[in-house]
Amino acid sequence: MSDVRRSLVEHWVRPEIRALSAYHVQPAAGLIKLDAMENPYTWPDGLRDEWVELLRRTDVNRYPDPSAQALSERLAEAMDVPSDMRLLLGNGSDELIQMIAMALAGPSRCVLSVDPGFVMYRMIATFCGMRYVGVPLSADDFSLDLPAVLQAMDEHQPAVVFLAYPNNPTGNLFHAADMVEIIRAAPGLVVVDEAYAPFTAASFMPSLGEFDNLVVMRTVSKMGLAGLRLGLLAGPADWLDEFDKVRLPYNINVLTQASAEFALRHKAVFDAQTAAIQVERGKLAQALAAFDGVQVFPSEANFLLVRTPPGQAGHWHRRLREQGVLIKNLDGAHPLLADCLRPTVGTPQENAALLAALAEVIVGG
Ligand SMILES: *Cc1c(COP(=O)(O)O)cnc(C)c1O
Repeated sequence: MSDVRRSLVEHWVRPEIRALSAYHVQPAAGLIKLDAMENPYTWPDGLRDEWVELLRRTDVNRYPDPSAQALSERLAEAMDVPSDMRLLLGNGSDELIQMIAMALAGPSRCVLSVDPGFVMYRMIATFCGMRYVGVPLSADDFSLDLPAVLQAMDEHQPAVVFLAYPNNPTGNLFHAADMVEIIRAAPGLVVVDEAYAPFTAASFMPSLGEFDNLVVMRTVSKMGLAGLRLGLLAGPADWLDEFDKVRLPYNINVLTQASAEFALRHKAVFDAQTAAIQVERGKLAQALAAFDGVQVFPSEANFLLVRTPPGQAGHWHRRLREQGVLIKNLDGAHPLLADCLRPTVGTPQENAALLAALAEVIVGG
């Protein structure tokens, strides 16, 4: 870059943006991909044929339905959204986080969440010029440190609190009673992010309406439609009508609307897949815990948080990749995640490959 260009960039791009590193996705070509909480199962052939037929009849010369009416109704039904609640769709739930932050941003306003947590809360707060306050989770079991959260809310008066339920990257469910105390005490909005709803029975969806400051966020990504980019926010119209104003027109494209609406008509297929993933989660957790010195944390999601013996996480991650298995290395991401790895639960074959590779790493050094 020329010196002039560099100084222009440094003058005009906000310092907090220049200080960021872009969201990094590991190259995965040719590897067994257990790094991104994807559903490993594809669609049965019959379903795929029906879907392609539907796409054949879908026109892309017109803009999509701006309100995605048919899809919204299907989602409300599939996700048990209470009938008196509104729905707002996003291009992934990431876009919903961004819409909420844009609507609430302002000088001196802040976003509060817990750490280690979902990194997009912090990143999007920064994009929108908001301060981010991350309250550490309890060191022993990653539960909410309720007194610390209450104290931080009192001190910082966050415009919005994000709580992932179950939490990513730790996989655990916070105690519902702690969540309720936070919702009651929060000065502003509380977003319960239920990205992993397909893998747990717990939900705040039925609690919508009980609290004036609660909204619930879901996504179709983890149930098996990550490629479509579709998330939803459910909550009282008073909040959602305002967030809708910062939504870019036509944010849910024609192909996503048609495909997701189709897929949700066949939700039983995905329910069977996510049920199978939950069974595999239990087996994989047990098998991983059988390795000497490996600690597996309880998970209500489609991934496991695993602690290796001290100093081994980076080495194991690298050696697993050399053997064709890609997982996520969390060592260094947060002090509470020292020596931690996060494999996504795959198919029985993929999990067996992970376990075989790990045995190789541990025995072979
Ligand atoms: C994966 C994930 C999301 C993002 O979902 P998209 O709909 O794919 O953008 C949101 N929140 C949490 C906690 C996640 O783990």
